[in-house]
Amino acid sequence: MRERNGRVNLKNLTIDELESFVVSLGEKPFRAGQLARWLYGRKARSFEEMTDLARSFREKLMEKSRISFLQPAEVKASPDGTKKYRFLLTDGEAVESVLLPEKDHFTLCLSTQAGCALGCKFCLTGTRGLARNLDPSEIIDQVIGVQATLLAEEKLTNLVLMGMGEPLHNFDNVVRALKVIRSPAGLHFSHRRVTLSTAGIIPEMEEISSRHHFIKLAISLNASTDEQRSALMPINRKYPLNDLLAACRRIPLSNREKITFEYVLIRGLNDSEEDAHRLAKLLKGIRAKVNLIPFNEHSQSPFKRPEDIAVQKFRQILMARRFTTMVRQSKGSDIMAACGQLGGKVKTEGFEKIK
Ligand code: SF4
Repeated sequence: MRERNGRVNLKNLTIDELESFVVSLGEKPFRAGQLARWLYGRKARSFEEMTDLARSFREKLMEKSRISFLQPAEVKASPDGTKKYRFLLTDGEAVESVLLPEKDHFTLCLSTQAGCALGCKFCLTGTRGLARNLDPSEIIDQVIGVQATLLAEEKLTNLVLMGMGEPLHNFDNVVRALKVIRSPAGLHFSHRRVTLSTAGIIPEMEEISSRHHFIKLAISLNASTDEQRSALMPINRKYPLNDLLAACRRIPLSNREKITFEYVLIRGLNDSEEDAHRLAKLLKGIRAKVNLIPFNEHSQSPFKRPEDIAVQKFRQILMARRFTTMVRQSKGSDIMAACGQLGGKVKTEGFEKIK
């Protein structure tokens, strides 16, 4: 992980590691709780603010550690209420997060990598390849950076790891970030409100769901045959549909929990009634919820959005087979913030500067 001048970035540490770090400075373990409250409760950006910590402790912290913060460099707002934030990282890379307004709360879509190596054909992020993995602090700081722009009555309660990158290709850093995001001493998000979306990296999917019971899984499926899926998502050649769905069947689920399957509908490619019937057959025996996402057209893709009638028919076929099926309204497509539209542009025109 990138450390500057040998100083530890405190947000790269889990809460347990923060305690060990504090002890290594010769302080009592309970001081870690105080420090975490400043970092994640009050969102402190400097040690000077931590006025209830002894000056000697603050001096040691200043010498040995640092506090990162990601100020949104730019933000673009859609009339539908969606906002896309661009964060510039210390090495010049940029990542984007998308804030989605819901009825009574907000959901934030987070990035876990700068770029992505998987190259899914419907995804703009995939066209630029992988630059690098994000550190835990760079994932956590997207949440804190967006929270800092919200009004007191605007509640950010839900997180989806569905922005730029394949989260399970950055496994260790994502798990560390999630530990802090979930911890009562950290950002304290409910485990029921944090979803990780994967293209289906089977070994890591199994590991995260067996060892870390703090995450809801969503699988980016997008096809009803291997031929279709391999053409859209090259990762399918390594982890084909039958293996992926067999792995989904093995995932331990709590009482009413379901696995979400994301399905980007593309006109003439995977949106037929036969596709819907095949999908229902594939998902048989899995406690599944299906999110249908009509493709968001953009200038850099030849794919077309499906007809509304095809979307409705597809949904009806799945509903008739008793799968909870939602059509995800395409929010933020006018500002390239919708699903599959992040991170393709390096240039930043069109954004509004945040002071
Ligand atoms: S859809 Fe997700 S996994 Fe596929 S290229 Fe885009 S960011 Fe990567």
